[in-house]
Amino acid sequence: MSYSNAKLNKVVNFSKWEKIVPFFLLLVFVAMTPPTNSKKFRRSIQTIVIDAGHGGHDPGCSAGGVKEKDITLKMAKELGDKITELMPEVKVIYTRKTDKFVELWERADIANRSNADLFISLHCNSHKNTTISGTETFAMGLHKAGDNLDVAKRENDVLLLETDYQEKYDGFDPSSPESHIYFSLFQNAYMDQSIKLASKIETQISKTPNRNSRGVKQAGFVVLWKTGMPSVLVEAGFLSNKKDRDFLNSEAGMDEFTTAMAKAFVDYKNVFEGVPAASK
Ligand SMILES: [Zn+2]
Repeated sequence: MSYSNAKLNKVVNFSKWEKIVPFFLLLVFVAMTPPTNSKKFRRSIQTIVIDAGHGGHDPGCSAGGVKEKDITLKMAKELGDKITELMPEVKVIYTRKTDKFVELWERADIANRSNADLFISLHCNSHKNTTISGTETFAMGLHKAGDNLDVAKRENDVLLLETDYQEKYDGFDPSSPESHIYFSLFQNAYMDQSIKLASKIETQISKTPNRNSRGVKQAGFVVLWKTGMPSVLVEAGFLSNKKDRDFLNSEAGMDEFTTAMAKAFVDYKNVFEGVPAASK
């Protein structure tokens, strides 16, 4: 009788191990997942790269004595300071902190080398119709309207200031419509997250008293082409529009804009990092 009980216990215990061992092996497997994959599965935002568009001998667009490169640099620094203030644990990296020329590939490369979790490229818009105003945020993707393509073309034209740009950018020619189509068809793995970040930015912009949101858009931007993380390009406002220009060129306007951007970042980060709990 006692023998039978002992045998039964053994059977029961073995059965327990049968259940536990695979679970244990799974834990070992998860623990041994190579660190090179860590970003892919990382559910936290630790590093952000802020890219001040243009710089040096590339002023970007300009009107009324206000240059895009100066606005974007000031904006990048203020945004970075506000993010650091709100979330000191987040590392902020800049593609430039001075008035210098940085090639488009290098901007993406800085983000990739830093293993960044987000890339935000800051720009100002321009349009021949000077009544057009507002902020629009782009993710990489197919443009649905000619105006979106025009914005990408204008920003991509910066390549003409670089040497050997066709070699560096797989034969991309800013003067060729086919090249822009090619880039617009490029979809990176982070498109969904890029659009989510863009939406947070435009939502916060729409809440500001002096800014109007023109919404989330998509187009083929060379600077977003090879970034290996969610990436957006923000057209803060139209320098061709006096009201937008005066807003962006004022201390109060810059503060209002960068505060909205920083809030959008916090919103995105909170939602992104809350995802695992929601996956039950
Ligand atoms: Zn620009």
